[in-house]
Amino acid sequence: MKVLDRMDTRQSYLLLDPPSLAEFCRRGSLREKDAAQSAPFPSIDLILLSGAVRDAGFQPIYLDAQMDNLDWDMLAGRVRGRGIAGVVSLISSSQIDAELEKLRELKIVLGGVPVYAVGTIMIQLEPHRVQRLLQENPWLDGIILNAAEHNLGVLLAASDPESVEPVNVAVQRADGPLVPEIRVSHGGSLRIPRPEHAIFRDRRYCFPQSKRTPVTCVQFSLGCPFTCEFCIDNQLYRKMLYREVSEVVEELVEIDRLGFREVYFKDLTFGLNKKISTEFLEELAARKLRLRWLCTTRVDVATPRMLRLMRRAGCYGIEFGVEHAKEDVRQRVTKRISNEHIRGVFADCRRLGIETTAFILLAMEDDTEADVRATIRFARSIRPDYVSFNVLNALPGTSLEARARREGFLREGAEDYRFVASNIKHRYLSPTQVEALRREANRTFYFRPSLVLDRLLKLRSFFEFRKLVRLSWDTVWRPLLCT
Ligand code: SF4
Repeated sequence: MKVLDRMDTRQSYLLLDPPSLAEFCRRGSLREKDAAQSAPFPSIDLILLSGAVRDAGFQPIYLDAQMDNLDWDMLAGRVRGRGIAGVVSLISSSQIDAELEKLRELKIVLGGVPVYAVGTIMIQLEPHRVQRLLQENPWLDGIILNAAEHNLGVLLAASDPESVEPVNVAVQRADGPLVPEIRVSHGGSLRIPRPEHAIFRDRRYCFPQSKRTPVTCVQFSLGCPFTCEFCIDNQLYRKMLYREVSEVVEELVEIDRLGFREVYFKDLTFGLNKKISTEFLEELAARKLRLRWLCTTRVDVATPRMLRLMRRAGCYGIEFGVEHAKEDVRQRVTKRISNEHIRGVFADCRRLGIETTAFILLAMEDDTEADVRATIRFARSIRPDYVSFNVLNALPGTSLEARARREGFLREGAEDYRFVASNIKHRYLSPTQVEALRREANRTFYFRPSLVLDRLLKLRSFFEFRKLVRLSWDTVWRPLLCT
């Protein structure tokens, strides 16, 4: 990576998105598989941690090994002898033991520098697993349990880290591993050191919905108070916590100055607190930035007024959880939103020129083939610009998993983080039928002549054309040709 060639001092600290040992996608997107293709974008965890590393007195540098198509040997060759003072690396839940072994080898290559792993939410929610990982990997300096609230910077800056009480960083201590309770603020505002967005600037990054590059990610709020049965993302923060409006606006001004053209807000439910969101959107609109942005929210949060404010402040796209065609199924997963409400909000977005993405949960445990097809038709009927058809998985730690286990429809250990297959025993569908229905969903949505024509007419750049070709390859053609 170019930045590594520039930074050759003892004080560099490596933020690493490591090589992938499987065809596994670390970041959520509309992609089928193969993280280094299609629409990858940088991890919000590494972005958030970059400010803490800088504040500890180091120069954060960044390497995305998947994007650079590096295997672990090539990565070692890339970083050896570069004077790197430490590593903060992502790890994945499904490949964790193998990836930790590779990180141990990397530590040796780098002369024994500190290595911290960033725990996924699944790992964070299991203190016993954290304890086991530390005990089995005594070489590992720590596992970051929460990338937003922690004192990693204080630990890195301390001359005697043993004297620092870690907050949300599980560390190895002389007398054994220390696994602190996860601490989460429940009031006031959230303070995050301003991320070093410049090191993540890479024109190869984009979002599935992107129109321009370069892109980066920003966190304005954490958490979500809703309780959708299948959701794991809100487990740490059930109460919403916001950063200071002025801090986030200034961060966006800097991002704009650095030449980024798009931002993805990684908030779970953008705009839920109307007072804070209105203040933020009005202040952002007043800055008249070139930056355009994308976010995720709920249909029942996107009031017409909120949508107008968002549009004025530069929003070009919104992702909504639509989930299913049947209102009673939506109610069962505690998403009480009517079909009429969904149609209205998608129409409001169209009128304002905001693109929409619908997230669909394919194949609930008692869905028949006809139910799945009805959901596919419903997704088409609300006329989103993109649809992400995700096969339902009962992820560890969710209420859905608890119910699936209780009611006997869980296939233990079979969760699929690509959401292509399911870990649920469907009452009326076989696993092969479910996968075939997902392929059918993508094909029938993305291959309609009207949609293809609309897309072609809206194309404004070669970048967009190339991205759409890659997306259609990943979502439609490759699955078709590989079956
Ligand atoms: S609204 Fe979204 S983030 Fe919140 S619980 Fe439901 S699915 Fe999760």
